[in-house]
Amino acid sequence: MRREIYAYRCRRCDAVQYPFRMVCKACRQNDFFEFDPVPLPRRGTLLTFTHVHNLPLDFAVARLGLGIVELENGLRITGQLDVAEPKIGMAVEGEVEVVRRADYDEYHGMVFRAA
Ligand SMILES: [Zn+2]
Repeated sequence: MRREIYAYRCRRCDAVQYPFRMVCKACRQNDFFEFDPVPLPRRGTLLTFTHVHNLPLDFAVARLGLGIVELENGLRITGQLDVAEPKIGMAVEGEVEVVRRADYDEYHGMVFRAA
């Protein structure tokens, strides 16, 4: 089964926001039941990136790429970046994968690769 990360569409004004907020950024409505979950798009453009070298001990890698990506619908999210030589402006595509394992828990997030 393909995993999804959900954004939330306001039923009153159609604005999509991520992560979830109790108040719509566009029209300020604040009824909890007036938002519909919609999957985040997978494709986007890499806006900026960095590599983290000093990770917590429970990470199984020595170096981790992180990128901020503007998705096709304009939302911006942070995700792991699995690209050997990333370039700002490149097209990327994400998959929801396990990004961290700690004790008995698995944490999921978006992992971007070159599109
Ligand atoms: Zn709204």
